[in-house]
Amino acid sequence: MSAARADLSPQLRTFLHCRLRELHGGRCFYCRRNFRRRPGRRKTLDHYVPHRIWPGWNVENLVLACEGCNLAKGDVLPWPLAWLLLAVFRRENWGLTA
Ligand SMILES: [Zn+2]
Repeated sequence: MSAARADLSPQLRTFLHCRLRELHGGRCFYCRRNFRRRPGRRKTLDHYVPHRIWPGWNVENLVLACEGCNLAKGDVLPWPLAWLLLAVFRRENWGLTA
């Protein structure tokens, strides 16, 4: 998903990049490649949960991704998250029937 969105100011963008570097290191969240070793590699902000499901620029829903991984992922819900949501959903259902 492209990070070039109208609602993201340059200041917020810089802040998010710094914050995410602190949290995850200067690596692509998906392929774990180091951005620093490849200065030409473009670093993008990626919504872990797709923007259309969780809009906004919440740092908890953002990861740094190289352009290739970002494009490959697109708008798809990551599998680990899909499983997690499914597990929570099931647990809630059990709670209701128990
Ligand atoms: Zn990557």
